[in-house]
Amino acid sequence: MTQQLPATMSQSLFDSRADAIADAARQLAALGWTPATSSNFSMRVDDEHAAITISGRDKGHLGRDDIMLIDLHGHAVGTTARPSAETALHTQVYRRWPEMTAVLHTHSRTQSVASRLYAARGTIQLQGWELQKAISGYTSHDSVLEIPVFPNTQHMPDLVAQVDAWLDAGKPLHAYLIDGHGIYTWGRDIAEARRHLEALEFLLECEMDLRRLSS
Ligand SMILES: [Zn+2]
Repeated sequence: MTQQLPATMSQSLFDSRADAIADAARQLAALGWTPATSSNFSMRVDDEHAAITISGRDKGHLGRDDIMLIDLHGHAVGTTARPSAETALHTQVYRRWPEMTAVLHTHSRTQSVASRLYAARGTIQLQGWELQKAISGYTSHDSVLEIPVFPNTQHMPDLVAQVDAWLDAGKPLHAYLIDGHGIYTWGRDIAEARRHLEALEFLLECEMDLRRLSS
């Protein structure tokens, strides 16, 4: 499937984004966080476009042909490929925050179990963990890092609306879980997004270990 780029976009820019997505995906797949072709990854290319994984590909073996261009409303640009079913959750981040350039979504076992465990409460409050400082804007283990857990749905506009409602209430948001599903997080570059994802995986594991050991 060929990807035609807009005249204003250089091939090398798109290729560099596709390579960065494929690299991150390969490493996250090796950790077992993208089972059975699940998960999706994207990077902003410019003010109006993002590169995102094509639906259904094995995230451990992505090449440039597995990444496609979309506009920030989730429409395919210059290709007949189908973007990830959850594309609207990626473009929402790019529309809300012009400084964000990478969105990572994985389905690890820890993320999936934690989302079920805290779904009824609707949120996970992390406090007292040194690694909270890996999340941009957090400088102390004393602060409360709140991760919402939204109900799962196959109807993306409902999920987009839940994220919008959280943000419109003025609450900070660096990541969210979807019940029984996985996690979304993002960053100003892909390294920051990966740092957020790794820290959150670690923090969720710690919280669940604590629950297990103190029950
Ligand atoms: Zn998903």
